[in-house]
Amino acid sequence: MTEPLLSIRDLRVTFATDGGVARAVDGVSLDLAAGEILGLVGESGCGKSVTAMSVLRLLRPPARIEPGSEIWLDGRDLLALPERAMRSIRGRRIAMVFQEPMTALNPVLTIGHQIAEVVRVHERASRGAARARAVAALEQVGVPDPDLRARQYPHQLSGGTRQRVLLAMALVLHPAVLIADEPTTALDVTVQAELLALLADLQRRLGMAVLLITHDLGVVAELASRVAVMYAGQLVEEAPVQELFARARHPYTQGLLEAAPRLAPRDGPHGSGGRHGGGAGRLRVIPGTVPPATAWPSGCRFHDRCSAAWDRCEREAPPSHAVDASHRARCHLAAEPERRAALPVALTGSVR
Ligand code: SF4
Repeated sequence: MTEPLLSIRDLRVTFATDGGVARAVDGVSLDLAAGEILGLVGESGCGKSVTAMSVLRLLRPPARIEPGSEIWLDGRDLLALPERAMRSIRGRRIAMVFQEPMTALNPVLTIGHQIAEVVRVHERASRGAARARAVAALEQVGVPDPDLRARQYPHQLSGGTRQRVLLAMALVLHPAVLIADEPTTALDVTVQAELLALLADLQRRLGMAVLLITHDLGVVAELASRVAVMYAGQLVEEAPVQELFARARHPYTQGLLEAAPRLAPRDGPHGSGGRHGGGAGRLRVIPGTVPPATAWPSGCRFHDRCSAAWDRCEREAPPSHAVDASHRARCHLAAEPERRAALPVALTGSVR
């Protein structure tokens, strides 16, 4: 990988709860290169959204980013910056789109006003110039009749158009990094496909890096060039998208793939393949549920759901092993080829 644009180092986030301290993110290190789309995948409660909110320092007490955590951008550790400096980075260098546009948009202000405000907070721009930028941003994200739309309120727009408005708001200052947290989850399938195509097109044209947070491996197959899988607050596997879909090494990743409709990544990032739904074979489910963050299991945090587990897994936490130069897996099996070879085929990662 080339020099990372954004680098997360040993990120630890805790929440004080009545049931004890929840270690929501527990030692996550992740790099995002300029111009790449990295998919951050996992079930809800695994820590992926908390990781994203930490990058923008949007978490509020009782959440606490633990000392020793670092998030580097432009040669500066964002976690060490004064809040004033951080405000100028939000929106200008790193922007975020959320899952539910209605909660992110102000219902009593016009769309144009809200996008123009983003410009005026960060730049010395007249009202007219900021408004022109807002209209141009709406046009860039494919909103038809952007001048008219700019004068409308959020409730006058469809769900898909509202999500485009959020995208316009995120991109109006040309950020280097876009964090998209489940950006299409609330939309129907057709609108979702249109928005994913738009996101891929914008990423290519603007050359920005995208951290794409999703529970949906289909979305990852459509868009991402690299994938990081989270489970129980930790990264458990990381690989280029083609490699992960062909040779997942962590039993949790294999379980996610087995639980998804037939998928294959595109021929390359943004190639011509994509989602393959309704294929042959029965879907499997990963047994059990994600444990609470106040009580991660001992040893490997996945051991009580893992059909490949043996006694070592309960005792000893696996480190993140290098499978090859671009592929890592946090599983003892990655360092035990003989044990791995003796497993049923469905657990060796060769099923796809
Ligand atoms: Fe399963 Fe053991 Fe690997 Fe954990 S370390 S994923 S329990 S085989």
